[in-house]
Amino acid sequence: MSDDIHEIYAIKYGRHDRPKADNYIGGTDPHDVREPIDYYVWAITGPSGTFVVDTGFDAAMAKKRGRTISKPIAEGLKAIDVPPESVKNVIISHLHYDHCGNYDTFPNARFHLQDTEMAYATGRCMCHAHLRLPFEEEDVVAMVRKVFAGRVTFHDGVSHVAPGITVHRIGGHSKGLQCITVKTKRGPVVLASDTTHLYSHIENGKVFPITYNVGEVLDGYETMQKLAGSLSRIVPGHDPLVLQRYPAARSGLEGWVARLDIEPKA
Ligand SMILES: [Zn+2]
Ligand SMILES: [Zn+2]
Repeated sequence: MSDDIHEIYAIKYGRHDRPKADNYIGGTDPHDVREPIDYYVWAITGPSGTFVVDTGFDAAMAKKRGRTISKPIAEGLKAIDVPPESVKNVIISHLHYDHCGNYDTFPNARFHLQDTEMAYATGRCMCHAHLRLPFEEEDVVAMVRKVFAGRVTFHDGVSHVAPGITVHRIGGHSKGLQCITVKTKRGPVVLASDTTHLYSHIENGKVFPITYNVGEVLDGYETMQKLAGSLSRIVPGHDPLVLQRYPAARSGLEGWVARLDIEPKA
């Protein structure tokens, strides 16, 4: 086995049923169709250890935001034999509430974040209620505390986190949003996180309504296609179809944990 080939898992932890029109700038026609989104964290395992991508939200945040937790993230990680306290590295795609909560779940981890995201989440843009909406003050403060505890590694643009794992700042949806490219036996797989919430965004050039810069979102679709070399190797951040297209990580985990380094069914 090559020393930079990884396995990747998508771990669903929550769901939100919503009108389809809420998922696209400009809405959709008809307006009364539903299009739920799922919430995930991801785990990358390989010769450099386990890297967790994003940390989700907890039960208190689910209640506050009217979301449903299907299984806490710690349970999903344990189901694939990744005890959270064993994790040494967590890559945070961006600081929205659904990607950086549960901050006490990884007591031994170092957190990887883009410079731009921290500057954005602590700077002048947060004076605007509209831009603040997807952020939680306590999540951002928790990350600042990790900086002062010496537990954050900052990245600027394209950066190698480990052999076969690279982060790329895409911006767009959040100013410092990054995707993660992972070398696998089926080629480079791009964990898109919120650079494309659903397959339909990148496939149809559509944009999710929470957006800092539409141009960067659309450029990001092209960047990710270059990085992955194929749309089939881009994994959207919130699409329920991920769990239908990819095989369960092991028997009994259907609809919960999927294996992403194996070719999708269709
Ligand atoms: Zn987001
Ligand atoms: Zn999100």
